[in-house]
Amino acid sequence: MNVGKAPLITLIVLALALGAAAAWPTEGIPNLGEVLLLAALFFAVLALFFLVLPRFFKRPMQIFWGMVLGALAGWALHAMDRAELMTDYFGIFGTLFIQLLTMVIVPLVFVTIVSGVSTMGDARRLGRLGGKTILYYCCTTAIAVLIGLMCVNVIQPGRGTVDVDRILAVQEEEAEREPTLGMQVQENVLPAIVPDVDIGRVPILPLIFSAIFLGAVMAAYAEKTQPAIDFFKAMDYAIIQVVLWVMYLAPIGVFALMGRAIATMGLEYIPMLAQYVLTVVLGLGLHFFVLVFGVLVVLGRISPIRFVRGMAPAIQLAFSSSSSSATLPVTMDCATRRVGSSRKVSSFMLPLGATINMDGTALYVAVAALFVSQVYAMDLSLGEQLMVFITAVAVSVGTAGIPGASVGLMTIIFASVGIPVEGIGIVIGVDRFLDMCRTLVNINGDAVGTVVISQTEGEMGEPETAAEAASPEAAPAP
Ligand code: ASP
Repeated sequence: MNVGKAPLITLIVLALALGAAAAWPTEGIPNLGEVLLLAALFFAVLALFFLVLPRFFKRPMQIFWGMVLGALAGWALHAMDRAELMTDYFGIFGTLFIQLLTMVIVPLVFVTIVSGVSTMGDARRLGRLGGKTILYYCCTTAIAVLIGLMCVNVIQPGRGTVDVDRILAVQEEEAEREPTLGMQVQENVLPAIVPDVDIGRVPILPLIFSAIFLGAVMAAYAEKTQPAIDFFKAMDYAIIQVVLWVMYLAPIGVFALMGRAIATMGLEYIPMLAQYVLTVVLGLGLHFFVLVFGVLVVLGRISPIRFVRGMAPAIQLAFSSSSSSATLPVTMDCATRRVGSSRKVSSFMLPLGATINMDGTALYVAVAALFVSQVYAMDLSLGEQLMVFITAVAVSVGTAGIPGASVGLMTIIFASVGIPVEGIGIVIGVDRFLDMCRTLVNINGDAVGTVVISQTEGEMGEPETAAEAASPEAAPAP
């Protein structure tokens, strides 16, 4: 961390301390021995996550270790019948992490969409190209969510491996338990400091609608609204930084959330989680297949081999960086120079696609929501699944093209059909790997779009370097 951030962090910590002092509970304080034990454990866990792990691993691996250590600690405490140490005390980090994530959702969705749409140019001037692009993006995202819903309904990864009655009994027990100090901190102290947004009550779809409306109007009168467009661009950057700061807490947050799940339920989650990963990967694979071997061949009229070879560098980068935005320059280069899509079409479609067209993300959040609902033994009706469908499409529009962007937004879908928001803890530990896979599918959807639309506009060309694009070795890192 550079020195410039230190005063800011000091201020944030001071504000937290003041808030905590004001709202500190006086009941449920454990005896001195317990307090000392807790303090030592807290210190050890903080040191582990903020001093030890960062020395050896980059953030994604730290999150992975957070999940593994959380599962182990949760399992040990479950076996020792001390689950409350995890749920009540270390659970504080999980609750804080979730609250911080949900705190940024509303500004994030609004600002990302206004900024994305307002920089797209005047839709009236773009005319046919704009219309076709939006239609293509809507259709492919809808197909993605449908494939996801189909896979999760057929495979049912969240059912069968856990004892539903036991989950319900444990939940009931939890609700009736005497509140401990840790629980009171989570229920009273944290919400007094960090906004505890009840995401289920936030009208997300109207928010998205108004953001698109405002963005379109700003784009239409860009000569007059340029300062506002620049403002939203800068805000977009700032809010993404807020998310990245919150993600500093991810390893310990995941530790606490995973630990809480295993401490209360035992290890039954593990095989279920593996099934969930397989379901998402299968869904993403199917979508890739449908786009490249169906849509590309039928509407784009080029060979899948030419496309995949041409796009290989972008596909590799998307997979390794988990960021559609970071991959954008390479996607642009591959689509135009190596595949032969029109420059005019690509330079309009790809930047817009990197912001609003996220097929992989839409599929992923829908599968995650249904999986968690299955774990909680909730039967989602067709109407509720329709709600998941609509919200998943909408949420994918508001997702920024950065690693882990959809983690917090997933809670919007959970809330829209009444799935407990804490359910995010069950899936977040394996998020990074799935993020790599879905980002690949995200940029694939955009790139296939450039071929299809270039073809319908009569502007599809040949790869600039045909010999290079046709050679199997021609996929060096950019
Ligand atoms: N990482 C994804 C992307 O950049 C967004 C997400 O988190 O789903 O496309």
